[in-house]
Amino acid sequence: MSNIAIILLVTAATSGLVLAIALLAISRLRAERTRIESALGSSAGASIEETTAALARMADEATVTRRCRSRLEKIMAECPLPTILLNRERVILELSARAEEELDQPRRRRGLLETLGSHELDEAAASAMDTQKPAELIVRLYAGGRRTYKVRLAPFRIEGEAECLVFLQDVAASMDFGELRSQFAATVSHELRTPLAGIRALVESLQDPSLSPEDAAKFLGRVDQETQRLGQLIDEILFLSSLESGSAENIAGKAMFGEAASRVLEKLEPLARQFEVSIDTRIQPDLSLPLSERMAGTLLSNLLENAIKYSGRGSHVELSAEKEGRQVRIVIRDDGIGIDAEHLPHIFERFYRVDKSRSRRLGGTGLGLSIVKHVVESAGGEVRANSREGFGTEMTILLPLRP
Ligand code: ADP
Repeated sequence: MSNIAIILLVTAATSGLVLAIALLAISRLRAERTRIESALGSSAGASIEETTAALARMADEATVTRRCRSRLEKIMAECPLPTILLNRERVILELSARAEEELDQPRRRRGLLETLGSHELDEAAASAMDTQKPAELIVRLYAGGRRTYKVRLAPFRIEGEAECLVFLQDVAASMDFGELRSQFAATVSHELRTPLAGIRALVESLQDPSLSPEDAAKFLGRVDQETQRLGQLIDEILFLSSLESGSAENIAGKAMFGEAASRVLEKLEPLARQFEVSIDTRIQPDLSLPLSERMAGTLLSNLLENAIKYSGRGSHVELSAEKEGRQVRIVIRDDGIGIDAEHLPHIFERFYRVDKSRSRRLGGTGLGLSIVKHVVESAGGEVRANSREGFGTEMTILLPLRP
């Protein structure tokens, strides 16, 4: 074989080898691309460059996600308020460290209602997410000690899904106590001044030498009434403030419902007769309440007395109580004058009366329902009022039973 032939043969073999190696490399690259494409789920036919770019984007996104996560963790660790992030179902997604410290065993993936036990807050969060409007409310939470919180709800949407940030601010820690005290002192003095002014006017009339013995007896009777009212008002103010400060005698206990109701109904019988109101009861036998005897009595007498007093002559009142799962449901319904929708949200406030003069005439202090609310909430329950002016009122109390 000539030299030229040998050179040609070697050249051909070398280029074949190079070609084979190139083909092998290309097929390896193709296989690698297919693997990457399937890993990315991208459509077939994308170039290596496109695939590489997609991988780079994914890496960027992963870094951004990691950064966002770290930022969120940092914010939640440093946030000075107990803060909760909720999803649409009001399940906790994130919690600040302060929330974990201050609240009663809050956990991610646990419901807000289950965690904080406030139907009011749960409903407000649902409505804030529905309307996408921020809201503020004051709630009393009993989980992890009794505290009143000013809550701010900040709803938003993320990829079409509603979520909500809940910021809780301990009112006691932020309120100006001086201001609060002077506000309370002003309201109480005003409330006390009214019966006092009545007593003073009656005493002046009694000093009139020309007063007939019959009139004197009548005026003395009214002085007695006003003094009793004053005494009741002072007792209720003291009772309410002891409830609010947590220094009240034990609220919890185990009162037998039937017995507590009989005692209250017996006490209220003269009033019911005076107002010609009939009362029906439907009480589950052997039902007990998670309250002390005194608190059970306070609750029932306030609600039943209101139902009788505000019902108008010939009305009908129903008291029913039953166990419902792990709670007791008490309903007091009347077919009386009802409460206008404008007033209904305020009736549990201290000294709030729809019709001041009617309430005073009937011996009301405007504190009964705030006492009821405090007692019920201190026992971890809730009280709701439903009413239609002219048709009647329904008060519902739900009290959780201890295991
Ligand atoms: P009061 O001492 O004036 O009765 P409450 O705190 O018990 O105070 O009630 C607040 C107000 O709510 C009452 O003044 C009355 O206007 C209204 N109210 C309460 N219960 C009823 C009822 N069953 N029907 C109509 N109005 C009611």
